[in-house]
Amino acid sequence: MAKISINLSEGTVKKEAKKDIIVGIDLGTTNSLVAYMQDGQVIAVTGEDGKNTLVPSIVHFATGEQIIVGDAAKQFLLTDPGNTIYSVKRLMGKSYQDIAKAGQYLGYEIIDEDTESLVKIRVRDRFYSPVELSAKILAELKTRIEKTLKEDISKAVITVPAYFNDAQRQATRDAGKLAGLDVLRIVNEPTAASLAYGIGLSPDESKTIAVYDLGGGTFDISILQIQGGIFEVLSTNGDTFLGGDDLDRVIIDYWLSRHKIKTALLTENKELSQAFRIAAEEAKKTLSTENQYAGRVGEWTLGIDKSQFETLIQPLIDKTLNSCKNALADAKLSIDNIDSVIMVGGSTRVPLVKKAVSDFFNQPVNNSLNPDEVVALGAAIQADILAGNNKDLLLIDITPLSLGIETMGGLMDTIIPRNTKVPAKAGRQYTTSVDGQKNLQVAVYQGERDLVSDNRKLGEFILRGIPPMPAGIPKIDIQFILDADGILTVRAKEMRSGVEQSIQMKSAYGISEEDMARMLLDSIKNAEADMKIRALLEARNEANNIVLSADKFLKQNAAILSEEETTRTLELVNVLRESVKGDDKDVINLAMKDLNTYTEPLAHRAMDVNIGAAIKGKKL
Ligand code: ADP
Ligand code: MG
Repeated sequence: MAKISINLSEGTVKKEAKKDIIVGIDLGTTNSLVAYMQDGQVIAVTGEDGKNTLVPSIVHFATGEQIIVGDAAKQFLLTDPGNTIYSVKRLMGKSYQDIAKAGQYLGYEIIDEDTESLVKIRVRDRFYSPVELSAKILAELKTRIEKTLKEDISKAVITVPAYFNDAQRQATRDAGKLAGLDVLRIVNEPTAASLAYGIGLSPDESKTIAVYDLGGGTFDISILQIQGGIFEVLSTNGDTFLGGDDLDRVIIDYWLSRHKIKTALLTENKELSQAFRIAAEEAKKTLSTENQYAGRVGEWTLGIDKSQFETLIQPLIDKTLNSCKNALADAKLSIDNIDSVIMVGGSTRVPLVKKAVSDFFNQPVNNSLNPDEVVALGAAIQADILAGNNKDLLLIDITPLSLGIETMGGLMDTIIPRNTKVPAKAGRQYTTSVDGQKNLQVAVYQGERDLVSDNRKLGEFILRGIPPMPAGIPKIDIQFILDADGILTVRAKEMRSGVEQSIQMKSAYGISEEDMARMLLDSIKNAEADMKIRALLEARNEANNIVLSADKFLKQNAAILSEEETTRTLELVNVLRESVKGDDKDVINLAMKDLNTYTEPLAHRAMDVNIGAAIKGKKL
């Protein structure tokens, strides 16, 4: 049904222009591709050869300003590794610190300035950010689809791993923008894969699925729950350094040991090393359909058969299954709860991988679609939904780490706990700790530890202009709003005066999955120690407050207290003040108790006197 629009100023009537096509893009570590939907069909776009849908995520900087992306760039990994950038997705939204370990595996130069800023890659005398490099890949995909459809394309949905944090998602969005694409939505890869299989498209469908994604350099397992068209990521697990490349490496090692070739020979000779890599990948792919492989590199005749290969890769597959186990445990589910298993990533073409996953989940797996295309196909389906061509589906994710703010004594006060469904909104009220306090610093942290110093700071701001009031009187409402893309907005508002301040967390640098895992582990390992510290800090905070109010009390009620009472109170306050300097919460609590017990009757007396005075002063 065509829509009619009327232009009131011109008095003209015109049919609405053809709807824009929104494309789906899988921006992968190893390969990227673009897909679109037409007349209810999802189509992965091929290059000029009409066959290859995959664009290797490789950018080569030729001499002169020429930039080559994809298959044509691949050969330069061998001949010009320093000017040929691959695996840039690993660097998205990351700081030098985050990738200190990973850098040594990459053949190009990562610039090491100060540790907390975003990484840059040096190519000859220019510096490129991962966002710029990803934009080159996206631009290539954009050109590809524009050539195919013979029209301009400006809107896209781009997929990211489910565990990508705000900074990584934002970097992906920025890359799209830089490539001239309006990124309407960032979608999780497992959600897209599920949509490609038509799972979750019906509103009355209720399912729990596992998405097993073994790509070129990474492994991800995600458990999703789909209900009433809503996708919820229950848990994610995996290994950012386990993928098809490792299967290749296992073959190389096998050849090296069989032919008694020294590893040093390959470390010294980059070209030879790449030649071995290419042969190993070819062998691996051959063994997905044949029983043996034979090839040549230099003077060596290299062979391997399927059963040898399978023996060699079994430990790697076992590692992925272990991640599956952990993901199930995190989702508090067992294998019986999984209704469908979806295979994603080129490496799931390996027959033993399919068999092992199927055996593990005790059911046949979904692998009828090309595993290296499913994510893009699903992204195209999501794009079509956004274009309004399908019923409205919601995508819901979880936040992997708790979000909160720093409170007195450096304690973490969690506002959105980890594993909360996103989008999420939560808030809490705070107050000032000093009389007449005009500014309040709000520092936002991510992590599971009780002390903010053990967590990761996302940002901070100062709420200014709180009208002077006694400590404890202002009501400061702090709200955390986490949107569907995982971007956090923090808003602070003083309720009595209405002063307000907010910031968006596009955290300056990202966090690696290893760091995330480490943070979670640390929080478990240190739970007991953390609890003790929290108790101590809380006792100290309370004691400090009591010292302040006792001082105030003494000043305000000097007239009604005997000298002995004042002296004794001062003594007890001093004991308390001293106890705060120590590390024993019991000593602090005891000193508080002593002071309270002694001053309670005095406070009652003071109250009576004050009320009496108030009544007397009242004119009736
Ligand atoms: P990513 O998601 O990391 O960008 P892909 O899903 O495209 O990567 O997977 C790329 C990996 O799949 C590479 O390691 C490649 O060697 C491997 N692969 C592709 N085809 C096959 C095959 N037929 N058999 C085994 N592995 C394959
Ligand atoms: Mg992938």
